[in-house]
This record gives sequence, C-alpha cells and structure tokens, in this order.
Amino acid sequence: MKSFVNLLKITFTFMLFFSIYKLKGDVSMTENMSQFHLTDERVSDWNIALKYLMNGNQRFIESIPIGNVLNESEKNNLIDGQNPFAVVLTCSDSRVAPEIYFDQRHGDIFVVRNAGNICDSIAYGSIEYAVEHLRAPLLLVVGHSHCGAVSGAFDNAQLGGNIQKILDIIVDHIESSENLEEAIFKNIYKVVENIKKNESIVKHETMVIGAYYDLVTGSVNFFIE
Ligand SMILES: [Zn+2]
Repeated sequence: MKSFVNLLKITFTFMLFFSIYKLKGDVSMTENMSQFHLTDERVSDWNIALKYLMNGNQRFIESIPIGNVLNESEKNNLIDGQNPFAVVLTCSDSRVAPEIYFDQRHGDIFVVRNAGNICDSIAYGSIEYAVEHLRAPLLLVVGHSHCGAVSGAFDNAQLGGNIQKILDIIVDHIESSENLEEAIFKNIYKVVENIKKNESIVKHETMVIGAYYDLVTGSVNFFIE
C-alpha cells in the first residue's frame, strides 16, 4: 500500500512538470525498423530513436536483454565510424548506466554523464558534437530515483571543492521543492528547458525529452512538455 501511495505521489509530481508522452503516428515495429538499432543504420526520425530506447528498456525490465553482442561485420562498421541514434545525458551514479537499462550495444547511444545530469559548458560541447557531427535526432535527459547528487542539493549539503559547483547548479534548479522527488523532476525539467535553447539543438531541430529511471522497477518514463 505504501509503495502504491508513493507511486501516485511520484505520478502526480511528474504531471506537474510534464505531460505523459505518446508516440506520434504509428511507428510499427515491422514497417520501418528492426527489433534493435543496426550499427550501420543512420536514424533521422526521433520517434524511431525513442522506440528503440523503449523497446530496450522493456527487454531490461523483463530480463531478456540482447546485450552487447556484435558480429564481425558490426564490429568492423564501428571501426569505420558511428551512427548513434540518441544522445543520453544522465547521472554518473553507478546504478544507472543507460547502455544497460536501455539494453543498447556499442555504437547505439552517445552518452554524457555527470553527477546530477546537469549541463555545463563541457557537457554542452559533447552534446553539440553529437548533434552537429553525428546527427543524433533525439536527446534524452534522464534523472533517476534515489539520486545522491540531487539529494545533497536538496539537503543544502556543503561539500566544498568542485563537488560544490555541481550542488550549486542543482540548488538553482530545484528551488522551493517540497520533497526529493519534486527536486529530481525540477532538475530534469530545468536541464531540458536550458538545452532546448542551445543553438545546435535549435538549428537541427533535435527532439529533447526528459525521462526518469526508477531504480525499484527498472522502468524509464518518458515525458514531454
Ligand atoms: Zn544521481
């Protein structure tokens, strides 16, 4: 009962910041795409990119991952270049590796990680490279439950040094949050809003979506304004 109440609370908080996203159009699994991304496949439709991630997360939840299995031909493709279909900005937390919870292989997603999934000039540089030169059509900002970085900011922890620089950024994002869940969603929301203004993102009409990974269920919920 307690977990159900918590789920309702989290869902309600989500809805304060995002409406639940529904795929645009009918992206059929058999029509335009394989079960998973192929190493030499360049994806230009963010709906398909999102579907690959949704399918991968479902495999992870059901414990039927394809894992990072590449044949010789696919390995050779990746020596020649890369075609990641999405950029994922997420937390450095060792429990939230996106290649694992999205069940993706080498060459599939371009990952930028730091504590608290924030976007500073260095993170922007990585994102701009992926958008400008690799033409990934989708950018996800994935926050997660039990986030220590956001928790530290929420508790106004004073840790000093470079850690404090991270906390100070998150503190600005989560102003007047009443609980940790709300702070986590506000942080995701703020990062998404900031990234949408980036020149490369605007120029290439990259789709930017916030998402939330739940350590308890293993599921990723995708949200859009
Ligand atoms: Zn975290």
